[in-house]
Amino acid sequence: MCYDLTIIGAGPAGLTAGIYARTRDMKTLILDASKVGGQLLSLYPEKGIHNYPGFETIQARKLSDKLYAQAESLECDIHEGEKVETIENGDECYIIKTNVAEYTTKSVIIAIGMGMFKPKKMGAIGEDELEGKGLEYVLPPKAEIVGKKVVMFGGGNSAIDMALVAATVTDTTLVHRKDVFRADETTVKTLEKSRVKTEMSATLVSVNGTDCVESVTIKRGEETIDIPADLVVINIGISANLGDLDTWGIELTKSGLVKVDFDMKTNRPGIFACGDVVDYEGKYKQIITACGEAATACNSAYKFVKKPYWA
Ligand SMILES: Cc1cc2nc3c(=O)[nH]c(=O)nc-3n(C[C@H](O)[C@H](O)[C@H](O)COP(=O)(O)OP(=O)(O)OC[C@H]3O[C@@H](n4cnc5c(N)ncnc54)[C@H](O)[C@@H]3O)c2cc1C
Repeated sequence: MCYDLTIIGAGPAGLTAGIYARTRDMKTLILDASKVGGQLLSLYPEKGIHNYPGFETIQARKLSDKLYAQAESLECDIHEGEKVETIENGDECYIIKTNVAEYTTKSVIIAIGMGMFKPKKMGAIGEDELEGKGLEYVLPPKAEIVGKKVVMFGGGNSAIDMALVAATVTDTTLVHRKDVFRADETTVKTLEKSRVKTEMSATLVSVNGTDCVESVTIKRGEETIDIPADLVVINIGISANLGDLDTWGIELTKSGLVKVDFDMKTNRPGIFACGDVVDYEGKYKQIITACGEAATACNSAYKFVKKPYWA
């Protein structure tokens, strides 16, 4: 079978592209190297999203579930655990090869976001040894942290949001290496009014414990402070890993992201891109922009494949 459209990546951009494609009756395949949901599920499932229109606040996991359910109900074929490795030219189609299978498709939308992203590490003593034993990079579900002493590291919106979530159910301390946060003013104000304890201008020296995390040692100037902890959450950003993108024959910008026209076209005919993986002047990496670009990319793919008289 030849798909009308294959979408690489099942984050908000890829799922939205799938939803639009099915409303246009395009046979649609969505492939994700990991799990459906992209950054929402892998990086901040517990966080509340306050800026997605239509929801005053929605937990990231729930927004991801809703997008997934909508794409599935519209009968997109969705495959998890399939990493796209190559996009080769076929006979009036493209051949997509993944780590497990091969597909033919008339058009492609690249929506791989930050790629196979990984949370950044702090490089502190004990960090590697205690990972998964009380040291995490993503806040576990609230039910699992009740009664635990949580110490979080980071100073951006995401770290503060996670600390606010944790503080609704347990004792939470947020440690930041600077004397001011680099987050939205409203988020900082909410933090100031919350029960989260803060340690500013402090760096992590070590995460301590034998079989599991027992405490952290931080340093402020010459002062060394031990804080008892059952759970340490490090939230200082992520490293993108765009994998094979530079071997797909797609023109990239200086920052290594996909160069697109206003209609989300790439340099390869029939291949479009959207979401965090694209770059243009003024690009703002948000869910709403990823979804908006996905609608445009899908419309362009539709015109390319179906060639409607009005296009
Ligand atoms: C901590 C944090 C908090 C945030 N909070 C907000 C917020 O409150 N509001 C907001 O609007 N935005 C927020 N964002 C930004 C938002 O998450 C991103 O802009 C959005 O996820 C981009 O969606 P995407 O679909 O382009 O990419 P992603 O969400 O990165 O999804 C890409 C998908 O592609 C898959 N993939 C990668 N490579 C391949 C491959 N070779 N083959 C197959 N699949 C592949 C990945 O597994 C992933 O599932 C936040 C970001 C972070 C890091």
